[in-house]
Amino acid sequence: MRTKMVAGNWKMNKNLQEGVALATELKKAVKDPKCAVVIGTPFIHLASVAELLKGSPIKVAAENCADHEKGAYTGEVSAEMVKSTGAEYVILGHSERRQYYAESYEMLAEKVRLALANGLKVIFCIGEVKEEREAGRQNEVVKAQLEGSVFGLSAEEWKSITLAYEPVWAIGTGLTATPAQAQEMHAYLRGLVAARFGQQVADDTTILYGGSCNEKNAAELFANPDVDGGLIGGAALVAEKFLAIIAAR
Ligand code: PEP
Repeated sequence: MRTKMVAGNWKMNKNLQEGVALATELKKAVKDPKCAVVIGTPFIHLASVAELLKGSPIKVAAENCADHEKGAYTGEVSAEMVKSTGAEYVILGHSERRQYYAESYEMLAEKVRLALANGLKVIFCIGEVKEEREAGRQNEVVKAQLEGSVFGLSAEEWKSITLAYEPVWAIGTGLTATPAQAQEMHAYLRGLVAARFGQQVADDTTILYGGSCNEKNAAELFANPDVDGGLIGGAALVAEKFLAIIAAR
């Protein structure tokens, strides 16, 4: 049975005190969840939040890491540094990083390699933009994203990968993929993983949906057989909304 998961992505929201307050609220409420729960926080929150969540089932993720091991890269944060905070995951390949920070397939492959080499698990995001969906090109887009950055991994390394399908047109827009669109894409992705790593590995791969997933639509999305949970942006910033999404999984 593959892991079901609800993961939050706080993005560049909440100062340290606000982040600690939200994590404290979540810790109090999440005692014995039916799925894995992860919160992705800004770098500066990681150590405090990871310390606070010791003994809690909630795990912590960074939202990025560097594509270099160490050295003269002013302002960057390495995978090793992330790991040293107590974080267990890193979110990589988010469309905002691909779009605003020009993260290429090759750069992402290197980030994934370094994350895994440093014992982090990776939530790897893929997804098409609106024009690509309208042109019916979504399948070729996500296939290229996988082939460009993560299909070079070994089957053993793949065990540390969670996929997140995030149609870019649905992120932060209030437009959600329909449950049928999500299921269709997730089944396609699982087929690609099966073709690359074998059916058993594909059956064990957790594939999250992300893009305006909230407390109102989560249950309907999660009811699909290939939708194993969600990567949640806006709704992860409000404890009661995030808790309702966890309960829906
Ligand atoms: C995200 O950025 O990963 C995301 C899914 O955002 P939102 O839920 O706000 O659409």
